[in-house]
Amino acid sequence: MRKCLRCDEVMVEDYMLKTENLTAVASVVLAKGGGIFSSNTKGKVKAAVCPKCGEISIFFDELNKIK
Ligand SMILES: [Zn+2]
Repeated sequence: MRKCLRCDEVMVEDYMLKTENLTAVASVVLAKGGGIFSSNTKGKVKAAVCPKCGEISIFFDELNKIK
């Protein structure tokens, strides 16, 4: 459970980051080093939104992949 850093409200976590106005659907992933063709991709970046103030928290929940 994530709490909003601004107002301490419980955030809604099950959001993904997507790009708009592209011909293909693209989500944002976490990767280390390399360029756009880097194969060192760790996984999808997630987002939580505060339902009270709209604050967005971006996070990565597959921590075992970056340890
Ligand atoms: Zn908030």
